[in-house]
Amino acid sequence: MSNVKNGVLSLSEIKKILDNFRIMGELISYEKINKGYINQTYNIKTLSEHNHIHQYILQRVNDYVFRDIEGLMRNVEIVTEHLRDSYILPGSRDGLSSTLSLKSTKAGKSFYRDEIGYWRIYKYFDNVKSFDIPDSPDVFRHAGEAFGLFIIKMSDVDPSSLAITIPNFHNTPARFEQLMEAVENDRVGRVKEVMLEIEIAKKFSHLYGVIAKPLEDGKIPMRICHNDCNLNNILFDYDTKLPVAIIDLDTVMPSSPLYDFGDSMRIGTNTSADDETDLSKVSCNLELYREYAEGFLSACGGILTKNELDLLPYASMVITVEDALRFLADYINGDIYYTSIAYPKQNLDRARNQFKLASDMHDKLPEIKKILSDIYKKYGYTSDLSI
Ligand code: ADP
Ligand code: MG
Repeated sequence: MSNVKNGVLSLSEIKKILDNFRIMGELISYEKINKGYINQTYNIKTLSEHNHIHQYILQRVNDYVFRDIEGLMRNVEIVTEHLRDSYILPGSRDGLSSTLSLKSTKAGKSFYRDEIGYWRIYKYFDNVKSFDIPDSPDVFRHAGEAFGLFIIKMSDVDPSSLAITIPNFHNTPARFEQLMEAVENDRVGRVKEVMLEIEIAKKFSHLYGVIAKPLEDGKIPMRICHNDCNLNNILFDYDTKLPVAIIDLDTVMPSSPLYDFGDSMRIGTNTSADDETDLSKVSCNLELYREYAEGFLSACGGILTKNELDLLPYASMVITVEDALRFLADYINGDIYYTSIAYPKQNLDRARNQFKLASDMHDKLPEIKKILSDIYKKYGYTSDLSI
């Protein structure tokens, strides 16, 4: 059983799992999808009467990263049911919901548990592709619209009705404390080689509370957020490149949309790969920034408060520097969280890269403010930036 746990499952093992779900047809083939980093995902094909082929997504939920799977699956049920009739993206198939839809088990539950772990099945979106980085400004703007639409469509659900699937997920001051602890412990003797990066982390410390503090004080609201706004969590139509669906709902929980916005910018606007070591190649592409901001704010800017709009320019650099803190702390701890490294110093390279990107965003703050204030003006949103 132990070698089954992380390896690819056999046809008969998959069949045994599928037998517990209400799906059409008999399993004929399956393929492991290696796109995501968190869950174990399979594309399943079944054959039913009259030679009908059906496709599904089978996933084993990562129960190391997520400790409360029952709470997580309840969240997914709440979100998918709420969005079923209202969340429709421009590439929607036949006007159908643009989010995941769960197949129930024969026992009427949304997941099945066996000795390997927790399994769920989703409806499959056919003829789609996803992008790790934007291949055009349009794709990035559409992603902004899709993540923004998610915020607005979930805004009439009480955030406290959702379980916290990862505690302290975006708590930037706590991330800094964790870095300081890692430095103090110096478990694997790496502190001496990262003194410069530790100094950079300290220099950014005035930023750490910029979103976390007003969120804690109630000056900006908790809203239901996606919390994993990676471009590859939007599926696009293979031919038209219009957005078809938003996926990966495991981290949906109460947070600030500023983090969602900032995280998409961190991933999508970087002009280099996230482990590029030639730091002169690392910068924030403001053209792409404008596209995403336009998409996101056209969808959900109308519900954001003045305080949120005032703080939005800082969001991308706060989240980027938060990411740098996490990579640096992990490097110092001996690569125990980000274990998928291709070479020994990759996490340190990622930390340096993210610090450089954050500092470029810092330098570009006046331009970023101008981009956002133009958009606020266009849509009539009130903020100190638009005065
Ligand atoms: P992870 O949390 O590991 O990132 P995801 O839920 O994002 O897992 O799924 C991993 C990949 O599987 C996605 O990037 C996408 O390519 C594919 N995928 C997931 N759900 C579907 C679906 N319903 N239809 C088609 N492809 C899907
Ligand atoms: Mg994903």
